[in-house]
Amino acid sequence: MSGEEYSEKKFDTEAASSLVKELRENFSSGKTQSYEWRISQVKALLKMVVEQQDQIIDALRSDLAKPPLETVAYEIGMLKNSCKVTLKELKQWMSPEKVKTSITTFPSSAEIVPEPLGVVLVISAWNYPLLLSLDPVVGAIAAGNVVVLKPSEVAPASSSLLAKLLGKYMDNSSIRVVEGAVDETTALLQQKWDKIFYTGNGKVGRIVMAAAAKHLTPVVLELGGKSPTVVDSNVNLKVTAKRIISGKWGCNNGQACISPDYIITTKDFSPLLVDALKTELENFFGKNPLESNDLSRIVSSNHFHRLIKLMDEDKVSDKIVYGGAKDESKLRIAPTILLDTPRDSLIMSEEIFGPLLPIITVNKLEESFDVINSGTKPLAAYLFTNDNKFKEQFVKKVSAGGLVINDSVLHFVACTLPFGGVGDSGMGAYHGKFSFDAFTHRKAVLYRGFTGDSSLRYPPYTDKKQKCMKALVAGDVPGLVRALFG
Ligand code: NAD
Repeated sequence: MSGEEYSEKKFDTEAASSLVKELRENFSSGKTQSYEWRISQVKALLKMVVEQQDQIIDALRSDLAKPPLETVAYEIGMLKNSCKVTLKELKQWMSPEKVKTSITTFPSSAEIVPEPLGVVLVISAWNYPLLLSLDPVVGAIAAGNVVVLKPSEVAPASSSLLAKLLGKYMDNSSIRVVEGAVDETTALLQQKWDKIFYTGNGKVGRIVMAAAAKHLTPVVLELGGKSPTVVDSNVNLKVTAKRIISGKWGCNNGQACISPDYIITTKDFSPLLVDALKTELENFFGKNPLESNDLSRIVSSNHFHRLIKLMDEDKVSDKIVYGGAKDESKLRIAPTILLDTPRDSLIMSEEIFGPLLPIITVNKLEESFDVINSGTKPLAAYLFTNDNKFKEQFVKKVSAGGLVINDSVLHFVACTLPFGGVGDSGMGAYHGKFSFDAFTHRKAVLYRGFTGDSSLRYPPYTDKKQKCMKALVAGDVPGLVRALFG
């Protein structure tokens, strides 16, 4: 049954159980483990993305009014790159890795053999509905697993397109899509999986982890958080403003897990930074950003009202220094900057995940470490400075999923870097080889022959054996010779 057919029926616990049973049998057949199958499926996925580019752009326009350039760059482009890197490197990733052995196992050889985990579940989020669904799937297939994808119901056009396209292009005996919302995800979570890869908020992340714990299933949790952006006064202001805007409003209008969530800068410098941001925002999105085709809309009415609540809080609404316009009928909110927002406001307590950017001011930039470290560990943190000492301090003192110095968001596109959170922003990582590793068990294998069978470890444990063992454990070769030969 294809993912599309599943979506037409009620998907309950019973359906989930028989799906997993069927997929487990398919995994046991060993088909997905061959290099050829993995390559053929990654190629099929690449072909799908290339051939269906226009449909993908349309689906993301329908779900989010996502500008086509952003879809091409951040969703299609990144996914194609992921496939290409995998096709190029997979043989190497799959090869067993020879490792040294020690004298205690002499004579022997050893290797680490990568093996697929089995039947895995990928649950994805709505904001990058193509990339966040298929990028983990590339890793799961590359590692030789059978996979079920549950796209987000909050991006319905993308979800149904994924079900349709994966049904058409991929091997449905081993790669399935289950569409649906909380009930369907709950039914899936009740099953035993060999790995669950979840992208979304931390509240549901806890539900996923609790469900996984029942079966001792390992998880990757790609969560969010408040990603700080620290701006020094010695920067190239124009470039800094453009790069902050690109990472914030140029990424799905701030609805991205690694968009700058808030800025920390010095009191003296803040007016200059605000002016530069205003100038560049107007250059990018014009005088009436609500009409701009280059800004995504807010995904849903719920999220629209959540954001308005953050903006309209009493102690916050008078802090708006730019923007603030909204159009509920079109679910649009203009890029909005707030200066000196109180630290105990809602906007400074929750992840914003939208087009609002508060600026916190401090007397000295060093104070930003306390501001950042007083909260939970963010998914990303950014620093703009020309001061090398401060860069060093930042890298050392700020614990986050990833850091970028003098830009925002771009660590996400470097597939040689692991992408994931730490602490409340998540656990585990993916991208490039890290995606393969996320769905792989590194099996330890030690090879021995029948010769050189020392009696040392066998009872009876004589004095001579004890002396030998002590010398061996101490790495004392002369002592070992003395113990052996008197
Ligand atoms: P969402 O609403 O699409 O939910 C994510 C998934 O969880 C969906 O597939 C949904 O069906 C499922 N789900 C929702 N409620 C559930 C429940 N009660 N039980 C079981 N499953 C349930 O996405 P979201 O959570 O609004 O996404 C936004 C959050 O995700 C933000 O916090 C953002 O920072 C984070 N995020 C992280 C990354 C990353 O790569 N680290 C990427 C994107 C988004």
